[in-house]
Amino acid sequence: MKTTLKTNITVKDICEGFVYNELEGKGLFGLSGKLTIQPEYQRNYIYASDGGKREIAVIESLLKDYPIGLIYFNKVSENKLEVLDGQQRITSVGRFVTDKFAIKDENGMQYFGTMAEDKRVKILETKLLIYECEGTESQIKEWFKTINIAGVPLVPQELLNAIYSGPFVTLGKEEFSNSQNANIQKWSAYIKGSANRQAFFERALDWVSKGNIDDYMSIHRNDKNINELKKYFNGVIDWVSSIFTEVESEMSGLEWGRLYEKYNTKAYNSAKISAEAQKLYADPYIKNRKGIFEYILGGATDTKLLEVRIFDEATKKAVYTTQTATAEKKEKSNCPHCAIGHDANKSKIWSFNEMDADHVAAWSKGGATSAKNCQMLCKTHNRAKGNR
Ligand SMILES: [Zn+2]
Repeated sequence: MKTTLKTNITVKDICEGFVYNELEGKGLFGLSGKLTIQPEYQRNYIYASDGGKREIAVIESLLKDYPIGLIYFNKVSENKLEVLDGQQRITSVGRFVTDKFAIKDENGMQYFGTMAEDKRVKILETKLLIYECEGTESQIKEWFKTINIAGVPLVPQELLNAIYSGPFVTLGKEEFSNSQNANIQKWSAYIKGSANRQAFFERALDWVSKGNIDDYMSIHRNDKNINELKKYFNGVIDWVSSIFTEVESEMSGLEWGRLYEKYNTKAYNSAKISAEAQKLYADPYIKNRKGIFEYILGGATDTKLLEVRIFDEATKKAVYTTQTATAEKKEKSNCPHCAIGHDANKSKIWSFNEMDADHVAAWSKGGATSAKNCQMLCKTHNRAKGNR
């Protein structure tokens, strides 16, 4: 790969013919049309988020002569350049000189158009440090994957989008990375993260590929449609939203793809499911509310998923003391199961550490986690009883 350092390109040159697409949140072109600011494999513009602090910082850096870092262009042909790294910074500058946002100076809030002449000149004449890179697509992409990118680090899916750029990624991003898509709100009930940062695209790929996103993107890279991806994704979303009709905050971010694969052939009665979910939701003994959904899907048997609260030390000690005193009086074992047995343990007094607490009435059958429902068993018998 060949790289050439350019030191005489100014902000004015870059912003010549700058176009910003408000709807898609991207800077499109610069350098009089010669520069593509956001090639397909780049992410959407995010410096304007978090209250625009980052884009303001870029402009203030220019005014104070602070460096804004290296910018990398990919030289596609003599008259065609693409921004490899620096898209966020360039878009910030372009947006500012086209009056898309204001910064604060000693005279109050200033748009570029209203700011003092000397400041405008200073910004426009700032020279940027730009590396122009020439190489094969795979060299450039390999490099893009490994450089330490300044600013907001790329998330893994953004890197994959860069590596497998092509028609498939373009279509996928149109559907899943567009924050204007009306479905995003519905999807957010089940998926955590933001469209801009590829959370939905990543999840869709993860589900359809059963976790092999990299392979899937490589195979489908040149596909001219995303039918399979969309169909599978919508299938999962429709499935979960038809079973769990009430949306709970704990649903967001669960492994719905895995659950769909495991349970989608089972029939569920959504009214019954809903009542069951509400009951479990109100149960103070359930520590892991995220586990409720899989617990229900699996037929309400795997209580491990719920991490039902266990008895606290004080309760266990109190129960141990009463139980042992009674047992000693009767000259029987303090483990009620040992006491009714016929072996040598039938009169054995176990120490506190040799015993475990057990729900007399199992939690899953309505038993509470209170002293009244607690009995101490020797470890062997407690293990044998299992179901708490
Ligand atoms: Zn026992």
